[in-house]
Amino acid sequence: MSAAPFDPVRAMADARHEFGEHGGVNMSIEASTTFTVMDARTMPEIFQGHAGPDQGGCYLYGRHFNPTVYALGRSLAAMEGTQAAYPCASGLAAIACTLMQLCEPGDHIVAANTIYGGTFALLNDFFPARTGVTATFVDITDADAVEAAMTERTTVVFAESVSNPTLKVTNLPAIARIAHARGAALVVDNTFSPLMISPANHGADVVVHSLTKYINGASDIIAGVICGSKEFVSGLMDLKLGSLMLMGPTMDPQTAFAISMRLPHLPLRVKEHARRAQIFADRLSERGLPVEYPGLESSAQRERLAALSNPGYGFGGMLTLDLGTTERAFSFMEYLQNKEGFGYMAVSLGYFDTLMSCSASSTSSEMSEDAMREAGILPGLVRVSIGFTGEIEQRWDQFERGLKSVGMIG
Ligand SMILES: *Cc1c(COP(=O)(O)O)cnc(C)c1O
Repeated sequence: MSAAPFDPVRAMADARHEFGEHGGVNMSIEASTTFTVMDARTMPEIFQGHAGPDQGGCYLYGRHFNPTVYALGRSLAAMEGTQAAYPCASGLAAIACTLMQLCEPGDHIVAANTIYGGTFALLNDFFPARTGVTATFVDITDADAVEAAMTERTTVVFAESVSNPTLKVTNLPAIARIAHARGAALVVDNTFSPLMISPANHGADVVVHSLTKYINGASDIIAGVICGSKEFVSGLMDLKLGSLMLMGPTMDPQTAFAISMRLPHLPLRVKEHARRAQIFADRLSERGLPVEYPGLESSAQRERLAALSNPGYGFGGMLTLDLGTTERAFSFMEYLQNKEGFGYMAVSLGYFDTLMSCSASSTSSEMSEDAMREAGILPGLVRVSIGFTGEIEQRWDQFERGLKSVGMIG
């Protein structure tokens, strides 16, 4: 029997279902911060991490493990095809705690030069100042540049599977080979491409997400997750050296429950975001406008993404359009939001409505002008997270009038 290709939806369906306490179809919310033990003599064992819920023991304290948060973690581990996962308070907490866990003072990170602005600031400013961990930023689509940036002290290569906001696709197998040849771990932020790309299947050692975006999908919750080996995830919870345990960005069980209720329709949402984004991108491209979308026939990213992605999810729900100048980008977004009711001028992505932002003056503004130029983040670049509310021709007509309003089309 040949091994079937990894299918995240199948894996999620196969993961253990958690029934509610009274037989409910939905799991219960374990709203306790602390847990009783029936035998006082088991306390030391639990505290030493030898008798957790996976080892026939029990729960200890909510910052360590909570059953509801744990259940969400199991679903997300199944989705990413990793042995384990643990959710936390935000995407940035997931990234910071992962890197804190993997690096010691003096260590070095090779990172993609097009990454979320907060991650850039963490690596470029915070870590060197506070931990002595330094980073070199490279064009992650250039394997030679990644190789050349590796040093004796490089312990992590960090990339986004699809980059924010430039939508470049990382050649994960090639970058994994470079990292592993030097004994470094590949950490991948998969926020832009849940279900579409399964980075662990292509060599990533740790996969992180901002659950705030597509996975939650309603722009009402900030959360993150770290997916990796059992050993790595339990290390995060180590009572003396675990970054999640000791930095403490704990996810609330109510949040874990809310996100769990949205996972079953994540595949439907991801497909519909992508279907609509493809239609918009194709039409913009037909009109000769400077659109970037990895699903465009003309896109340099298309082949790589097709080779990496799980079939059936399309090419993502994000596109960018270069309006030329900041002023024009602002007028365009204002027109669409205020005159047409087409989406919102807001950062973030993966919302059911369309969100638009000018990356250079918002989510990437942590970067210097030089760093932005190098990463190809132009001042008039509008990043659009295509939503799925409304009827598609209605939305396209609105968008077209927006383009007319700023003279992008006649
Ligand atoms: C939003 C985002 C983050 C940060 O996530 P939070 O949940 O806001 O902390 C990290 N990476 C990417 C790619 C993001 O879009």
